[in-house]
Amino acid sequence: MKDSFFANTELIGLIGHPIKHSYSPFIQNYAFDLMNLDYIYLPFDVPSENLKNTVNGVLAFGMKGINVTLPHKEKIIKFLDELSEEASIIGAVNTIVNDHGKLIGYNTDAYGIIETLLPFKDKISGSKVSVIGAGGSARAVIYTLLRHFKPEEINIINRTHQKADTLVNDFSLKMRYDSFHTFELFPPDNVEILNSSRLIVNATTIGMFPDVDDTITDIEASFNADQIVFDLIYNPTKTKFLQLAESQGATIVGGLQMLIYQAAKSFGLWTGVEMPASEIAFKLEKYILSNSL
Ligand code: NAP
Repeated sequence: MKDSFFANTELIGLIGHPIKHSYSPFIQNYAFDLMNLDYIYLPFDVPSENLKNTVNGVLAFGMKGINVTLPHKEKIIKFLDELSEEASIIGAVNTIVNDHGKLIGYNTDAYGIIETLLPFKDKISGSKVSVIGAGGSARAVIYTLLRHFKPEEINIINRTHQKADTLVNDFSLKMRYDSFHTFELFPPDNVEILNSSRLIVNATTIGMFPDVDDTITDIEASFNADQIVFDLIYNPTKTKFLQLAESQGATIVGGLQMLIYQAAKSFGLWTGVEMPASEIAFKLEKYILSNSL
């Protein structure tokens, strides 16, 4: 990989808290190198109280842009000048482009979700789905499902019930959809809801590195062999939640493909160059294998 940086090197950042689990620096720096672009991508652990200073820093340093990850995807919006249509409907931003001093927010998670779920489109359309979580990425999941997959009914299951209700109110208004149901996350009460869903999506942080023994549920009856179970978490590549779903015959999908495709879309927004996604995916899998114990 490139080991020299000069006066014209463009700086891209990643902000989040925590940030140590992220593979994005590997993906972006490898892609810059592969495409011979004079860019560098660096992670910054930024707590919420420093968001405004961070945005000012992007402008002051003339950075080309940043990625935004949890828990800042919603809170960052008020510091931006403009939003893409998608980011505005979703209400969350994961990519910022500094366009000559104007900060524009995008949501490329939606693209990663489309690319991941496309092989299952026929099964999802007209079916019942359950989304666990009501944060920034759950919003991108719900937007993508409504716009591209047309499910019959969406259950939103979240620890904080009121956040699920707020999300439903937003999407009912913005996307004119009224087949939502909300539930509090309490696994013994969620068994029937989950088992009767054709697609289940985990959009929470439960089971994410380093808390890899945590899981949404350990009740086998939550799953069946006709289901697709998608966990947005990519570290670990197969969460405990996915392991249980797989043991019940469900088709499981981890978060790595989404990670690659959202990264590819962001890369294109910053550089105007297409990221060779399948080559990067191959390299990332090797990197993960060589870094796991
Ligand atoms: P976020 O906005 O901070 O939302 C976090 C969600 O997790 C909320 O619904 C929160 O519930 C729930 N949660 C957190 N801790 C919990 C606990 N102990 N018990 C129950 N619920 C809990 O985060 P996000 O940006 O949506 O990210 C969510 C996950 O998606 C992360 O694991 C992230 O890595 C993953 N992700 C993956 C990709 C990819 O490319 N594969 C892209 C984006 C995100 P409350 O509302 O009750 O707080």
